[in-house]
Amino acid sequence: MIDLNDLLEQVWPMATQQAVPTESVSLNNALGRVLAQDVFSSLNVPQHDNSGMDGYAVCCTDIQPSRRFQISQRVPAGASPQPLQPGTVARIFTGAPIPPGADSVVMQEDVVVNDDGSVTFSALPKSGQWIRRAGEDIASGQVVLSQGTRLDAIHVGLLASIGVPTVSVNRRLKVGVMVTGSELQSPGQLLQLGQIYNSNEYVWCGLLEAMHADVRSVGIVPDNFEATCAALESLADCDAVISSGGVSVGEEDHVKPAIEKVGQLRSWKVAMKPGKPIAFGHINRQDGGQSWFFGLPGNPVSSAVAFQLIVKPFLSLLEGQGLAEVDWRLRTRKVQAAFTWPTPDSRREEFLRADVQSDKASLFANQSSGVLTSLARSSGLVRLAKGQQVNPGDWVDYVSYQDLMK
Ligand code: AMP
Ligand code: MG
Repeated sequence: MIDLNDLLEQVWPMATQQAVPTESVSLNNALGRVLAQDVFSSLNVPQHDNSGMDGYAVCCTDIQPSRRFQISQRVPAGASPQPLQPGTVARIFTGAPIPPGADSVVMQEDVVVNDDGSVTFSALPKSGQWIRRAGEDIASGQVVLSQGTRLDAIHVGLLASIGVPTVSVNRRLKVGVMVTGSELQSPGQLLQLGQIYNSNEYVWCGLLEAMHADVRSVGIVPDNFEATCAALESLADCDAVISSGGVSVGEEDHVKPAIEKVGQLRSWKVAMKPGKPIAFGHINRQDGGQSWFFGLPGNPVSSAVAFQLIVKPFLSLLEGQGLAEVDWRLRTRKVQAAFTWPTPDSRREEFLRADVQSDKASLFANQSSGVLTSLARSSGLVRLAKGQQVNPGDWVDYVSYQDLMK
């Protein structure tokens, strides 16, 4: 049995060293992709000093209260202004460039327009007011986004704001999914005695789609050695394959011998609860390549937790993200237990489903690894070391599902 931290430290460098190749995509196709290079800005944003208001561009030292000023030019957004004639003002609109010689904008609400078309100011403007400075958002030469960033909508907008039409990203991961179990039935079908609905496939596909992976699922595979080998081999051209169930050592568990036949098993027991039987290895391809393989337990909570804690960061590294971006351990924080945990597991660390409000953690009543509602009705996982007893008021490590999704 290997400790979770040791497993992570062992497998993460493998993913980092074999990140998938890069490609260039247009901004329209960049959402959710991982940047393969730092992106620098070749321009200032905004490019020129411009007006933050509809109003009048003025030279502050010219302005005296109750004096009438002529409007010498009109500068809408998109126009190129002339230098400001001394002793006059320029009509200006939001986003329009500030005329050379003007050093301040007075908003139109603070200006009286006289019958003769001249304007009068009630208060003395401050130098620089309502001017948005060139480069105040982004300076030319600045790194706007770093390699390894998974691009969200704001990131894509930032790239557009510096005029970048295409970006270099790592190609999307192709991830194979299979769920083993002769008892499994698909939603929409009637359950016969002893059958249960397959939920793991839906959880994983959803989590993988949230990572913008290209998911290929072969669905339900019966508990039989040949069918398990065939399913694994049919997914071998994926970057990684995830299977659920059949990974213990019962007579109906075929994943371990199957992966030993079609590839190689590197480790298969992790000292964590829920979890434990978690296989890691690879499937051999005909062309000499290989696909990474994770065999997770069938219990819905174990499978979802193992996915989030082990598989997701591995896949993110494979897609070119950096260690700092994927290490969820950096996102754990201390919360105060509002529960007791008197009989901890002495051989495995435990991840308890907890609801945290104002830094106080209460446990979901049923911590069984088969109870999927425990994940639906909690906000995250309390991480306990092997043998860690908890009394109310103790500070414990916690990571929220929201932070695990990052
Ligand atoms: P296993 O790891 O195959 O021994 O399965 C452990 C438990 O998880 C059993 O109660 C299975 O019925 C259940 N299980 C296995 N696969 C799934 C699945 N795809 N969806 C929901 N439950 C499952
Ligand atoms: Mg099974």
